Amino acid sequence: MKCIYCGYEESKVLDSRSTEESNAIRRRRECLNCGKRFTTYETVESIPVLINKRDGSKQPFDINKVKDGISKACDKRPVSLSQMEQISEEIEKYVQNNLKQEISSANIGNIIMERLKALDEIAYIRFASVFKNFNSKYDYINFINNLD
Ligand SMILES: [Zn+2]
Repeated sequence: MKCIYCGYEESKVLDSRSTEESNAIRRRRECLNCGKRFTTYETVESIPVLINKRDGSKQPFDINKVKDGISKACDKRPVSLSQMEQISEEIEKYVQNNLKQEISSANIGNIIMERLKALDEIAYIRFASVFKNFNSKYDYINFINNLD
């Protein structure tokens, strides 16, 4: 994306957000040469971001799966709906702002775990048990022993 002021080829993305009406991504950029800022609109040919799963398979990113995982972990726990929504919004933003076409599920899971840890320990452990695929009580014991 050439700088509109000096023609330099490289710029840094300061902010990117999707414009829902036009199916485009609006990006604020800063030229790495002259430092001027400009906005670009890039049309997305609706190529979904792919999530690399631990087993090596790939799936298109689906925010509903994130929401589902969070709400299951928080079932009957003192985590409010808006707190859960905040986490999934953060994940959505992370995926949208990520300039890569593929993101590992571990990346996303780690962010969710970090947020849940700050909110509720039980929700955190529940989420971790699914995310890290706990197989036995020893997995729980190890995990809990390593909690700080
Ligand atoms: Zn420039």
